[in-house]
Amino acid sequence: MSDARPTITRRRGLTALSGLTALSGLTALSGFAALNAPGASPAIAAAGQRPAPRSQQPSVLSQQISAAVDRIAIVNTHEHTIAEADRLAAPRDPFQLVGHYLINDLIAAGLPPDDAVKLANADAPIAERWKRLQPYWDRCRFTGYARAFSTALADLYGVQQVNLEGLQRAAEQMRQLRPGFYREVLQRRAHIAYSVLDDYWNGEPTRPDADLFVLARKFDWFVAPNARPDLDRMGEVTGVEVNSLAALKRAMETRIQQNLDVGMVTIKSTIAYQRSLEFLPATEADAARDFSRLQALKQRRPTRDEDATDRPFRALEDHMFHHLLAVAEDRGLPLQIHTGMQAGNSNHAPNTRASLLTPCIRRYSRLHVDLFHIGFPWTGDVLALAKMFPNVSVDFCWAWVLSPALARRALREMLDALPYTKILGFGGDYRYVELSYGHSRIARQNITRVLVEMIEEGALNENQALEIAQAILADNAARLFPRVRTA
Ligand SMILES: [Zn+2]
Repeated sequence: MSDARPTITRRRGLTALSGLTALSGLTALSGFAALNAPGASPAIAAAGQRPAPRSQQPSVLSQQISAAVDRIAIVNTHEHTIAEADRLAAPRDPFQLVGHYLINDLIAAGLPPDDAVKLANADAPIAERWKRLQPYWDRCRFTGYARAFSTALADLYGVQQVNLEGLQRAAEQMRQLRPGFYREVLQRRAHIAYSVLDDYWNGEPTRPDADLFVLARKFDWFVAPNARPDLDRMGEVTGVEVNSLAALKRAMETRIQQNLDVGMVTIKSTIAYQRSLEFLPATEADAARDFSRLQALKQRRPTRDEDATDRPFRALEDHMFHHLLAVAEDRGLPLQIHTGMQAGNSNHAPNTRASLLTPCIRRYSRLHVDLFHIGFPWTGDVLALAKMFPNVSVDFCWAWVLSPALARRALREMLDALPYTKILGFGGDYRYVELSYGHSRIARQNITRVLVEMIEEGALNENQALEIAQAILADNAARLFPRVRTA
């Protein structure tokens, strides 16, 4: 429906960008001035010049809403941001940014997987890598992933064209980045108040930079252990010898406490990457039987394609997932859970439909379940669950780059169907802050378009539109994932 007016659509997209530049000009300039002090980061360029829109000027209404939406300090429900010190310690070039999500579109367009590995090799000349990338970039450059990438390059590094010369210039600037560039990009440019960080690669729970992040942590490992070595490792990190189903539960509870001690505000699960979200009731006896069989496996089992549907320890997994939800409910911790298509190029998407979670949502009625990624592309599942259950919210993290148009339609449908307090409007879901910035621009532009459309139809007035924007971009997430204040 909102795609029926492409001219207006294009006009509004560009407006939002020029609106930001004009609005945040002063902030951005003083930010750069401060950053250009010795030891700071000089490399982030001022917002790049955009080609002038060919259509007539945007409406005053659209400019006003765009400017107001840009002023909202986002509470960002989901990121995988690499720590700034780690980012600065490693080689840096724009092909790293290609490696997060955009690479999946390139592979889907036919890029050989071997070439994907070669693109990531920071030692190879940029010219050589661009030659490999270009034919596939040309095919993908209009997707949401590509738009996050090109927006980041344009606005943060002043590179208007993704080509050899542009990538070389971006690489040169990235090499000059200094401490402070995360604050510059996340706080001053993306105007994100703080983000929920899922740093799943950190084995040990680590307190993040409290100015920028609060913590989400996963316990899927305890729900679906692979073999005996996993149980041994759980013993090492928790001090609980995992020799029974009861001990496995105690070890998981200990791990949850360890993570609470460093400021975890929510439990996260990506178990839909491994198996179906349908968790059947499984008795203690059946789960204990599975545990004994698993304990007898001395070697980790290699991953097979069939694992997506064939789970040899299913009763144990089902039972442990229910236990995880019971603990989360008792502790008052929300659950952020992956629903909808997985990242990557070979996963089993039917496992991920949000409606598979219905029995769990019904049973743990005091547990807040935050359904990630609007269940893309099965957004109707998520909408129905949030419409029925007081303990369910829908989360647009990742969604604005999966498909800006699909996310826009979903937001419009959800605003027609749901209390707006149940919608979490933005989560960047990137390892690289530049891409979180690009994603935030796409999100603000498209949220603006939906709200303007509703005002023009007479469904909302301007103040009501801004009340909704403030709630879905900040207040709803801040209530669920409050910022942890450290001593
Ligand atoms: Zn994620």
